Formats: sequence, C-alpha cells, structure tokens
Amino acid sequence: METLEFQSEARQLLQLMIHSIYSNKDTFLRELVSNASDALDKLRLESFRDKDMNVDVDDLHVVIESDPAERTLTVRDNGIGMTREDVVRLIGTIAKSGTAEFLKQLKEQQSGSTSDLIGQFGIGFYSSFMVADKVTLVTKHPHAEKGVRWESSGEATYTIEDVDDAPQGTSVTLHLKPSDDEDRLPDYTEPAKIREIVKRYSDFITWPVRLGGEEINSRKALWARPASEVTEEEYAEFYRHISHDWNAPLETIRMQAEGTFEYQALLFLPSQAPMDLFMRDGKRGVQLYVKRVFIMDDCAELMPEYLRFVKGVVDAADLSLNVSREILQQDRQIQLMRRRLVKKVLSSIKSLQGSRPDDYAKLWGEVGAALKEGLLSDTDNRDAILEICSFASTNSEESLTTLAEYVGRMKEGQEHIYFMTGDSRVAVEKSPHMEALRAKGYEVLVLTDPIDEMWVDSVPSFDGKSLQSVAKGQVDLETEEEKTANEAKAAEFGDLLTWLGEQLEADVKEVRLSSRLTTSPACVVGDAHDITPTLEKMYKAMGQELPKIKRILELNPAHPLVEGMHKAFAAGERDSLAGTAELVHGLALLAEGGELADPSRFVSLVADRVQRTF
Ligand code: ADP
Repeated sequence: METLEFQSEARQLLQLMIHSIYSNKDTFLRELVSNASDALDKLRLESFRDKDMNVDVDDLHVVIESDPAERTLTVRDNGIGMTREDVVRLIGTIAKSGTAEFLKQLKEQQSGSTSDLIGQFGIGFYSSFMVADKVTLVTKHPHAEKGVRWESSGEATYTIEDVDDAPQGTSVTLHLKPSDDEDRLPDYTEPAKIREIVKRYSDFITWPVRLGGEEINSRKALWARPASEVTEEEYAEFYRHISHDWNAPLETIRMQAEGTFEYQALLFLPSQAPMDLFMRDGKRGVQLYVKRVFIMDDCAELMPEYLRFVKGVVDAADLSLNVSREILQQDRQIQLMRRRLVKKVLSSIKSLQGSRPDDYAKLWGEVGAALKEGLLSDTDNRDAILEICSFASTNSEESLTTLAEYVGRMKEGQEHIYFMTGDSRVAVEKSPHMEALRAKGYEVLVLTDPIDEMWVDSVPSFDGKSLQSVAKGQVDLETEEEKTANEAKAAEFGDLLTWLGEQLEADVKEVRLSSRLTTSPACVVGDAHDITPTLEKMYKAMGQELPKIKRILELNPAHPLVEGMHKAFAAGERDSLAGTAELVHGLALLAEGGELADPSRFVSLVADRVQRTF
C-alpha cells in the first residue's frame, strides 16, 4: 500500500468540500451517478471500437447500496473503470482547465456565495467529502490486470493499493458523516431519500439505476419525449448534467427533423458564460447520440466554434454507432444538420431579443464576444449574426444598441454606419476623430472588444448601409459648398502640406487637410485598409513583428496653430517650423491615446516652446 499526496489545488478543493456550508448537499449523489453513467457510455463505445476487448456489456448499470448500520452508501457501476495511473491522475489531481481561476474567485468571494461557484465548476467526485468523512473507491479497467483500491479522508493524503478480485467497473463507498438536521445533512442511507434524489437529478440517465434490485429512474431521454410533457425542472437538471453549470439555462431549444435523415436536438443557451469560454482548450458543448446511445462529447462537427457556449444533445437516427470524427467531417447530412442547428440557434437568440429583451441582454453580456467571432468565420450567416449583435455607442452611456436601432436613428443625409475601435470608451470618445461627427450629431458605435478589431474589416455593410471607421480613410461629411471651400484651402495650403510631408517622412505617409476636426489642430488616420493602432498593439503583444505602419497626418485649417504654421511658412521661417511639425504630430498621437516613439525628444521640444513664452 502506498500513501500519496494530493496535488495542492486538489487539496484546496477538498478542504472546501469538507468545510462546505453549501446547503444543497444532495448533489453529491448526482455527481457520482453522473460519473457512473459516463463510465458506462465509455465502456459501450470502447467495446464497439475494440472488438477484442473481453468484457461483458450486456447489462450495463448503476447500483446504489446503503447500509444504515455501518452508515455507508455505495455507488457502483460496471463501466470503463480506471487503471492505477488513471486514479492517480484523475482523482489525485485536478487537471481541469480553469481550476486556478476558480480557486482565485473563491478566495475573493465571501463564503456565503461560494455555493454558486461550486455548482458552476462541477467539482464532481470531490463533492463526496461534503457528506462523508472517508471515501473508498475500488475500480478495474479492462486493460489492467489488477484492480485498484483508493481511500482517503480528504486530508492531505490518500492511499492506493492493488486488489486482485475487483470486478469490472468502479464502486465508490462513502463512510457518511453522522446525519444532522442542523447542518442540513439528511440520512442518505434511507432508501426513500436516495430514490427522491435520483428521481430529481438523474431520472433521464439512459442506464438503469438500481436500488434494492429495483430500477429507480425512468431513463426517458428528454429529447424523445413530447415537449409538452417535460417540465422546466427536468430540462434544468439535464442541462446541469451535461454542462456542469449550476444555473438554470436561459433558453431551451428543441428541434426535430424527419424524413431521409432523422434527428432530434435539445439545445440550451446558458445564463452564464462557461468558465472555459475563452480558454484555448475550451470545449464545445454539443454531444452526439445515435438512437439514444451516447457517441461523443464536444462534437465540433455539430456546432461552430463561435457557438461553443451552446450546450445540448443531438440524437441522429441514421448514423452508425461506431461513427468516427473523420466520417462525421465528410458526411454531407451532418453538414446539412449543422447548418440547420446554427440557423435555429441564431433565430432563437433573435426571438429572445424581441420577446425577452432583458434575457437577451444578459446572454449578450455573457457570450457576445464569442458570438462576434462568427462575423469573421461564418460568412453565410453574417447577416443573421449582425442582427443579434449589440454595441456600445455614443447614443447612450449605459445601454447598448443593435444595428437596426442605430439605422432607425440615422440622421437625414447620413449614409453610413460610423464606428470607431479603440482600447476603451474614454479613449474613443475623446479622440479627435469624433469631432466632426459630434458636430453633425451623428451616432458612432464604440467598439472596444479586442475581437472588434478583427471583424470590422470583413463586414462591409448592414441593411444596405456601409460600415465606416471614423479613424480611417476619408470621412465624407461635407456639403457641396464646404467641399468647394475645402478644395480652395487645400490649394492654398498645398506647398506647406508637401513640405511638412517631407519633414515627417519617417513617420507619416502624407500630410493633408482634414474635414473631421472642429476643435483639435490635428489627428492621425489610417488608410482604409491599414491595421489600426490597437490591432498593431495586439499583434505586438502576441510577439509578432510587423513592418512600421505609416499613417496620415490630418490638419485642421481653421485652427490657429495651423493658420500660424501657414503664415510662418509663407514668411519663409523653416527652422522652427520643422520642430512645430514634430510637435503637432506628437499632439495628434497623444490625443487619440497613442504612444510617442521618442517621448524625451517631445518633452524637450515642448519645454523649448514654453520657455520662449516668458
Ligand atoms: P468530472 O466528472 O467533472 O470530470 P470528477 O472529479 O467527478 O470530474 O471525475 C474526474 C474523472 O475521474 C472523470 O472525468 C473520470 O475520468 C474519472 N472517473 C470518475 N468517476 C468514475 C467512474 N465511476 N468510472 C470511471 N471513471 C471515473
């Protein structure tokens, strides 16, 4: 027998369980039955793939046994089991992505609200220690010669030893803490209590769950039952089983297709973003079943990445039970099905927007940043995605706007949907690029999600109105008269602009007059297809080398500073004008929240000018 130490994160979680004040302790049984059910799914699958595997899969089941005298409760399955290495890796450590984040959040929270987090994280097996002071696990994997016995009281260590006569599968025996009404710890050895918990949390489990020889779950797949007969509570439990999200789903979506390719789908929109939504190894949420038999988790072929927050089940009638990922990728019917599922999810979000705006807003707040990835990757559905997007805008400090609402507010004569990307709302609002639009009373979308930088370039228009960055290209806001006047100005300033262009050649590609400024002397803008400074920063942060991107310096001819430069140029004062040109460029960069290439040079230029005023 060996004594091993729990990994430190596992130890912290265990301590949390032991001292848990989480009121709903019943859920430990849900977790154990859920694990057993997964193990049965895995063994069944393995037996399809590996015909030589010598195990009996004719009567796969879960058995619950209780012993009131010994105060033990055992959950046993004849599923896939675990090898010794599995036990050490899966039970002794926590490899789940997001554990560190979870523990951090727990530490930051007051104990009162930890229960939500516990549920959301889905602590699984460890939840046994909420109700037991010792847990014994005996397991055997079909490929292992011997079984393994694991035992722990949830403190720093566990013991592990080989056993010769372990049956196929896993049994988990809880040595229950004394029952105690005050601590809300019911007597879990009581058959009525066990029956009640299984009925409440695990009724839909497709494998039989037996207690005293009797089957205590109905095993009815929810997606196969008429919608009118399934209660909200049943949906919510099933959602918890597949998503490990403690919260009830925000929306339940059911779909059915008959004919040559039959399938049923039961999908859920979450009320809270999954913890791994933006993690590299984050999962997609849709499971594939074939005729009620679980086939695979995390089925990428059924849901695109940007909809990875959608959880649920798709049960296809006409696939083979040993269908592989490779086959799925090539199957035309699967692709057709995926297209319909995506459309259905998008249209469900759209109708949420109309009928339950608060819930829609909640969903958007949680998963909007993921949905927006679809604007880049799913060109077929781009319009449908645009319709369900919400954005911050200069129209309101607090509430977001849809593009349709924006279009509804467009001013007489306004042709484009204007937006500006940037690091923060403040930076965008204070940016000189906004001045002329503000003067005209035009609304501007304020796009500050990193993903916004990515999609704006690939979405040309919405509802026939082109999307136009206020910080790129030419902004065409002038009336005919203003245009004529500006052309005259441009001719008048022509020589100065050319000269300034030469002076600043290293930093800008052109100096021109601006029609977007009313109060600032200058701003820098990108060409229509240049990447933005924020995007440039993002690439650099990822370690990517980029060639230097030169932008365009625009001057406001009505500003006294620019007028002064014009006069000085006409009078032939070139020397100090060169320094002024550099200053003006620096000011334009600072005004948009940008960084100066050489701050100390800028400081000495400013100091020099200020000195001269004394
Ligand atoms: P989760 O189920 O969320 O992955 P758990 O802590 O409940 O987390 O379980 C960790 C892992 O241990 C499972 O993913 C599974 O691989 C393994 N495991 C747990 N219970 C069983 C069981 N009854 N049979 C086989 N493997 C199991």
